Amino acid sequence: MRRREWLRSVASAAVLLAATGCANGSKKSGADVASDAAEGTGTSGDVRAALPDGVVSRRFGSAKITWIRDNEEGQMRANQMFVGADSTRIAQWAPEGGVPTAIAAYLVEVDGKRILIDTANGKPDSRLLPGLAALGIQPEAIDYIYITHFHGDHLGGMMKEGAPVFANAQVYVSAPEYDAWMTSPALAGRRAQAEATMRAYEARLRKFAFGDTLPGGILAMDAVGHTPGHAAFVVDKCLIGGDFVHGAALQLAHPELCARFDMDVPKSVETRKRLMAYAKENGMTLAGMHLPAPGFIERW
Ligand SMILES: [Zn+2]
Repeated sequence: MRRREWLRSVASAAVLLAATGCANGSKKSGADVASDAAEGTGTSGDVRAALPDGVVSRRFGSAKITWIRDNEEGQMRANQMFVGADSTRIAQWAPEGGVPTAIAAYLVEVDGKRILIDTANGKPDSRLLPGLAALGIQPEAIDYIYITHFHGDHLGGMMKEGAPVFANAQVYVSAPEYDAWMTSPALAGRRAQAEATMRAYEARLRKFAFGDTLPGGILAMDAVGHTPGHAAFVVDKCLIGGDFVHGAALQLAHPELCARFDMDVPKSVETRKRLMAYAKENGMTLAGMHLPAPGFIERW
């Protein structure tokens, strides 16, 4: 998608958000959202700096969190990728035929540590390492990697040409996610990438339980449903929900909708509603690996 088309799609997504009630009082226009993405500026919690398109930093207490989009430009997720309602109703809710999405990772800088939450796809055109470089960070400087789940668009960036990309990072994964992918017969045909990645980082691998507080004071939360051991992470007043949504413009207004990738549909719906309620009750911003620019949602 060219930039002009993308701006148009963001603008129409903003109309969609307003129409579905997602905007919930937000005064931002679609163009404002796009310029946030380009400049890393916006609301009071932002860190003002000249950042490239697809890199957005925000401040949460003593932590700086940066959304780094892996793909060059935003994408649209087709309506057909969602289940849980009649397709004609979904078409009414998303009349453009789809909703904005992206693939992203988040960098958390707190207590002098650099924590990467997920690593995106790791494809040759990945923007993760250039995004980190724009922040002055080389892969060797990453202290920790926390993984939400074992799909390739989340741990793919840990490896390049069969070798680990992050030479010094301690890697934290949820114990139930690890166990499911390594041992479940149901995942036998799909575990090659996760298995090779875990093996490559074996000496610096840690498994956490839901409810554990990880280095940096980051809480690991149960977000099971999309995968058998999916985790979310709480950084101050930001909930990084991993794949709790794949099309925010549709699913925040209609959390009963699931993307076709959700492995356990009822559990995914339950988790999505629980995480959204938790964030709302605690006055938190939502972040997620498939949110469109700017990668943070304060009101929904
Ligand atoms: Zn994903």
